Amino acid sequence: MSVGVVLRRCVSCRERQDRRLLWRIIRPFDGKGVVLEGPATGAMGRSAYLCPSSSCIDDARRRKRLQRSLRCQVSDSIYMALEERLNQTRAAASEAR
Ligand SMILES: [Zn+2]
Repeated sequence: MSVGVVLRRCVSCRERQDRRLLWRIIRPFDGKGVVLEGPATGAMGRSAYLCPSSSCIDDARRRKRLQRSLRCQVSDSIYMALEERLNQTRAAASEAR
């Protein structure tokens, strides 16, 4: 195990993974609703982690796992943004081939 790896648990599959491989969804302390972590976000708050996979996103959506983990409402637009990000990641991966 290398030094500096931070493990976090995906809210859907409960697998522990390197934090850098997971997506972080944040409920900022300022209470302005849930955001996805990104370069422009920089939000501090309560966070939940999700694998970048369609099965974990679907499961989180169906079972309201983000809502439970963050203890607040998570709008559909968050799940749509996650799916969008997944599509972009896949597109980037196929271009790299
Ligand atoms: Zn997962």
